[in-house]
Amino acid sequence: ETKSRARGYCTAFEPEMDARYVEQQKLKADLRDAVENKRLHVDYQPMYKPDGSRIECCEALARWIHPEKGTIPPNVFIQIAEEMGIISGITEFVVERACRDCTTWPNHMSVSVNLSVQDLRNADIVAIVCAALEKSGLDPARLHLEVTESSIMDELVTVRAILADLRSRGITIAIDDFGTGFSSLSYLDSLPVDIVKIDRSFVRNIGEDSRRFKLLRGTVNLSRELGLKIVIEGVETKDQLALINAHRCADYIQGYVFSMPVATEAVIVLSDALRRKRVARRRESVA
Ligand code: C2E
Ligand code: MG
Ligand code: MG
Ligand code: MG
Repeated sequence: ETKSRARGYCTAFEPEMDARYVEQQKLKADLRDAVENKRLHVDYQPMYKPDGSRIECCEALARWIHPEKGTIPPNVFIQIAEEMGIISGITEFVVERACRDCTTWPNHMSVSVNLSVQDLRNADIVAIVCAALEKSGLDPARLHLEVTESSIMDELVTVRAILADLRSRGITIAIDDFGTGFSSLSYLDSLPVDIVKIDRSFVRNIGEDSRRFKLLRGTVNLSRELGLKIVIEGVETKDQLALINAHRCADYIQGYVFSMPVATEAVIVLSDALRRKRVARRRESVA
């Protein structure tokens, strides 16, 4: 019904736009359908101890496989969902699935879920998150929520109240993509957050003397002074890892150098392999 109305509208004004418009409307209808029927998936990208010996947390990343178009990247469908005002349906699905999957992982591991700027404008998010925790029985201490730097700049007062509420329940809050917005470092101090995830643009092309690396180190040192933990994301090569570790920049490392996003079953396999390695190494050192 909406589709035919939309087509009529478009043909009357801009016939050449018709095909593209109809296709976009179809994609939107398909997304709405996928969200309503929970036909989305969640992959998990591990965050490791800097020496790679252990997975501490995994980030939940939404996946949509369109029946005809195949994989649609989250950057694309998340934005469409935001435009359509249906992002909270995705958040609800992901946080529910993430909490449930985390209960099947080793106890020391946490799960981290991305929130959209729109989630932070609506106090319903607190009820959505609490329902997922209750339903799964997951300890709130094992749930992290990621909010982007730009989304917290947006409506500071509401956002701050919602984050403080979530945090008072034992949930950990991380600032995602840090360093890509225009916020000043000084406001880090005023936000209810625990973890800073340094954006991967700081890691690309880093070298010992690069200005980018100096910025990264400065941000890390200041964040630590404020009592925050540091995740460095987008670490792709052994050289980048070595440089970051030589300067002890990270508390956790997330990037292709250790692992790409994987299914929940693979998280268990990866963490189990590391556990066996740790046990073997301990035996060697005793012998
Ligand atoms: P993000 O939250 O910053 O997630 C990290 C993205 O960087 C993921 O892309 C991940 O696959 C990618 N990545 C990780 N390590 C590396 C690396 O070493 N090199 C490179 N080049 N990339 C790396 P993905 O899964 O395509 O997600 C993109 C963005 O979509 C996420 O960025 C996040 O902003 C958004 N997103 C994904 N799932 C959700 C969700 O459930 N809710 C919301 N609101 N946003 C989501
Ligand atoms: Mg994230
Ligand atoms: Mg990120
Ligand atoms: Mg990022």
